[in-house]
Amino acid sequence: MFNRLRADRLLSLGLLQPLLELQKQRSHRVPVLMYHGIREEKRSGSAYFETNTSPDVFAQQMAYLAAHGFRTISLDAALDPTRDKLQRAVVLTFDDGLADLYTTAMPVLARFGFTATVYIVSGFTEVASHSKHVNGEEYLTWRRIRELADCGVDIGSHTVNHPRLWTLPPEQVQTELVQSKCMIEAETGKEITHFSHPFAFPGHNPRYLTVLDDSLHKCNYTDCVSTLIGRLHSGVDRFRIPRLPVNTHDDPAFFAAKLDGAYDWLSVPQRLVKKVRSSAELLQTR
Ligand SMILES: [Zn+2]
Repeated sequence: MFNRLRADRLLSLGLLQPLLELQKQRSHRVPVLMYHGIREEKRSGSAYFETNTSPDVFAQQMAYLAAHGFRTISLDAALDPTRDKLQRAVVLTFDDGLADLYTTAMPVLARFGFTATVYIVSGFTEVASHSKHVNGEEYLTWRRIRELADCGVDIGSHTVNHPRLWTLPPEQVQTELVQSKCMIEAETGKEITHFSHPFAFPGHNPRYLTVLDDSLHKCNYTDCVSTLIGRLHSGVDRFRIPRLPVNTHDDPAFFAAKLDGAYDWLSVPQRLVKKVRSSAELLQTR
C-alpha cells in the first residue's frame, strides 16, 4: 500500500533522520500537519502531491501521536513566544472544510482528545441549509462548523471562493479575505484570526506577497499557514507559516520522520523549484 522507494522518503529516513538524531535538534520546532480530505480515494498519481488521507492511515497517525506522547495545541499556543514547553506538541490543520472532516476525522480526534484548526471556504458551505457540493466535493454546513467550534476546534478562513489569489487584482484579494472572515464570524459568533492560503504558496512573487501581507493586516488576521515545507519555529514569519503535508502514503516510519524534522530539508529544493519556475514565467512574459 505504501511506496517505500520514493526519493523524498528514502532521503528523509536514511540520511536526515539519523543526522538529526545525532545533533539533537528535535525539540524546539512544532510540526503543523496539513490535511485535506480523510477518505480512501486518491486524487493524485503522485505520492508527493496527494491530498487525501485514508481513514485507516489517519487513525494510525493519530494513534502514533498518542502513543508517542504528542499533544495537540492551537496555533495561538504554538506562536506564543512566552511558552517554552513545546516539546511533543503538534498542530493539526485541515484545509477546505470538507464534510469528511466531521464524519470521519472528528470521531478519531475525539477518541484521542485531540483538537485541530479547520480552514473554511465560506462560499462552499451550504445552499438552503443543505451541504454544498463543489466539483464533486461535499463541504461542511454551518451547523456542523458551529458544532466543531463549540467543541473547541479552531476555525479559520480559506477565502470565499478558493481562488488563485495571486492572479486577482489587489482589491479582490482583500475582498476574499474580508468577506470570508465576516461570514464565518457571523455564523460562528467567534472572532476569526487564522488564515490558510489556498494552493501552492507563491513565495517568489514579491509584488503579490506585499498585497497579501497588506490584506492580512487590514483584515486583522494574526497568522497565515502556507504550503511551504517545514516546522514552526520561534522566529517564524506569522504570515508564512510552514507546514508538513501528510497523506495516505505516509507510512508510520515516514510520518515519524516528518514529525522529527527529517522532512524539513525539502524546503530547500521546494524554494529552488519555485524560484526557477517564477524566473521562467517572468522570461515568458517579457
Ligand atoms: Zn484549499
